[in-house]
Amino acid sequence: MVKYKEKLEEQKVFIDGEWTMSSKGDTYSIINPSTGKTFVECQKCDVGDAKRAIDAARDAFDNGPWPEMSFEARTKIFYKVSDMIAEKAWEISKLDASCNGVPAMQHATTVMDMAPHFKYVCERAKELAEPKGVTGEFPMDQTVWREQDGVIAIITPWNVPFWQMALKLPSALISGNTVVFKPASQTPISVLAVAGMFEEAGLPKGALNVITGPGSVVGAEMAKSDKVDHIAFTGETATGKGIVQNAAGNLKKVTLELGGKSPNIIFGDIPVDEAAKLAVLGVALGNGEECFAGTRVLVEETIYEAVCKKTAEIYGSLDVGNALSLKTKIGPLVTEEQMKKVLGYIESGKEEGATLLCGGGRLQEGELKDGFFVAPTVFSNVSNDMKIAREEIFGPVISMIPFSTEKEAIEIANDSIYGLAGGVMTNDRAKAIRVARKMKTGNVFVNTWHVTSWYMPFGGYKQSGWGRLAGESGIEEFTQVKSIYADWGGFTKWLLKTLLLH
Ligand code: NDP
Repeated sequence: MVKYKEKLEEQKVFIDGEWTMSSKGDTYSIINPSTGKTFVECQKCDVGDAKRAIDAARDAFDNGPWPEMSFEARTKIFYKVSDMIAEKAWEISKLDASCNGVPAMQHATTVMDMAPHFKYVCERAKELAEPKGVTGEFPMDQTVWREQDGVIAIITPWNVPFWQMALKLPSALISGNTVVFKPASQTPISVLAVAGMFEEAGLPKGALNVITGPGSVVGAEMAKSDKVDHIAFTGETATGKGIVQNAAGNLKKVTLELGGKSPNIIFGDIPVDEAAKLAVLGVALGNGEECFAGTRVLVEETIYEAVCKKTAEIYGSLDVGNALSLKTKIGPLVTEEQMKKVLGYIESGKEEGATLLCGGGRLQEGELKDGFFVAPTVFSNVSNDMKIAREEIFGPVISMIPFSTEKEAIEIANDSIYGLAGGVMTNDRAKAIRVARKMKTGNVFVNTWHVTSWYMPFGGYKQSGWGRLAGESGIEEFTQVKSIYADWGGFTKWLLKTLLLH
């Protein structure tokens, strides 16, 4: 596996069991957002390379041996990979931090959490593959089988590269599907590392292929290809809509994890200090570049002013710095382009009349000089029709909105095109569950945020996506359901005689 260095050697892609260059020899650079310096060169694949990778996965699925291998044999490979990940967890975290600016310590919490996930996926996939006899009055045997989908295309974004990989790849591969994986151009290194681990653990060639290069070229080809049976995509809602259109040619199955603008409802019974900490928790991790960040903080008016003030005090005082420093709580944004986009949203908040309580601009003092740092920013007096409350900012910006009743809070919360996550902060258990059930979101956090379990399904309502990943649903997502009717008695003879041959 590639070892962390300030500047890595050029990375190859993994196609049909071989480490190879892009066919035209084109490469592109990844800039470390903490330093503004080149971190690594990667292969800039084109449509021809995407086709090579898809052909390899197609052949590996149609001609084996991976799809025919027993669960026991597949599990052995998975356990070896899980051990390798545990051993290299810190190395992987530093590689991801150098690509996307999220503090390495925060990456490490996900990377180190892989062993139970891999174990669960292996056990549940085997159980789910067992045929299920169906009871009910019917004159034949009825059995439901879960079978492989076939060739799966996986496309992931740059914000939490290893977690994004782990949400899809283990569940897709374990059932015997084969995979073509295109990680985000900015963050492919940890996924390439995992491909190396699967190779070392004995995964048959072609079962996993990893390519790098522009999504608009190679990703679009993966979505269009008739040789792909299922595309699982995470990224922006607009890109997801394009995937759906491209996938229509062969009506391949589509799984989408898209954007979010999650409401965090804080009721007046929560003490101010605690409320402010929960508001910060919802956004601060991952530099605010998280699909389920609680960026719309709805606070009951009885405590609104005090919670806004305290939130700005806490968020504004977090350490901003190089993503590799253990002190850092907020790193740089992933690219200069993303930093500019976030600064644009901050300007729009000011122009639309929200009150800026902290942050509000780029940070460039000292060691931050060449990186893409934005100060943690809190706006109060935000109304839900402002741009900063409606659009996904994907940066360290909190928009605080007052409400007066439970009904109003729910209305504001659900007034969004997105439906990925929501939060309810209250000590009243009945109210918490009542409000959680009314939220049109796939995930709800009560008195917490940012904890996702590998055993629970993850996905969104409305324009936040289709389908669910993780948990049992996540394994089922990468399978087809087959119903087999078998007549071992005389029913079909009776049917023929009664309806046709009398
Ligand atoms: P993008 O949609 O821009 O990119 C996501 C992936 O799609 C990248 O690998 C990208 O490649 C690829 N891609 C780009 N264009 C196409 C295309 N035409 N066809 C196929 N693939 C394409 O999203 P970002 O990377 O900017 O990620 C941020 C977004 O992801 C946010 O909106 C966020 O909410 C969402 N997200 C959703 C999550 C969820 O679980 N719901 C989790 C995390 C993020 P390349 O990098 O080469 O452009």
